[in-house]
Amino acid sequence: MNERFFLIDCGEGTQIQLRKNKLSPARINHIFISHLHGDHVFGLFGLMSSLGLMGRKAVLNLYGPAALRDMVEHHLEFFGPLPYALDFHTCKAGTPIYEDSRNEVIPIRLKHRTETYGYLFREKARMLNIDKKAIDRYNLGLEDIKHVKQGKDHQTDSGEIISNSDLTLPPYKQRSYAFLSDTGYDPGIPELIREVDLLYHEATFLEADSDLARQTLHSTASQAAMVAKEARAGKLLIGHFSTRYKSENDFISEAGQIFENVTAVNDGDRFTLDLTRVRKE
Ligand SMILES: [Zn+2]
Ligand SMILES: [Zn+2]
Repeated sequence: MNERFFLIDCGEGTQIQLRKNKLSPARINHIFISHLHGDHVFGLFGLMSSLGLMGRKAVLNLYGPAALRDMVEHHLEFFGPLPYALDFHTCKAGTPIYEDSRNEVIPIRLKHRTETYGYLFREKARMLNIDKKAIDRYNLGLEDIKHVKQGKDHQTDSGEIISNSDLTLPPYKQRSYAFLSDTGYDPGIPELIREVDLLYHEATFLEADSDLARQTLHSTASQAAMVAKEARAGKLLIGHFSTRYKSENDFISEAGQIFENVTAVNDGDRFTLDLTRVRKE
């Protein structure tokens, strides 16, 4: 995201997938953990250890529920300290947990059997882009340009007011991605991810097994699609399918009846958020 590399969850096999997809683990400085179930953290210890063996010195930032720190520190008591520092960041729903000049990450509390968070990755609002032609036409100075970029109108020497929209180009859309796994259906979620460009929502079960979904606090394909529809998401990705099912097609057809733009994800898939649309590479 804007030259930053974020890893979300770290299941067993993460290192193999990084290698297969030619992604350098050394470039990852931020790891976001949704919750402390094995399929989401079993790869963390191996990855942290490998980073040490590769000579890492830079701080590694870990984000997640409070118990993440206990779990990692307990593990390190057995396997020895790492040659680099860990910085733990504890999730508080709705409060940005990560921020840089262009991006922010907001934890979203999910409904699962242990404390679980989804993450909304969002570009920050950018300053308006000034139309170069307007600079010449109205003979704008540096101070004027600064004000126009902040959204102010411009007053000419003759007192004429030029509206800001006549001086600036249409603003870029702020791109966003939400990762929501694992969770039972929660109708409160859509308003937290309103108009997200790309939504990953777990879909462990099909609607025929909605009782199981309720009991285990997971979602069905229909429920994932309902969240996407309510949120007016641009595109929905589903995964985390229970191994009891033979084919992904049933998930796609079930979700597709509610939300058309849906894809079942597999290891190695890549999606790019252009300024205008989501593209599968
Ligand atoms: Zn879980
Ligand atoms: Zn899981």
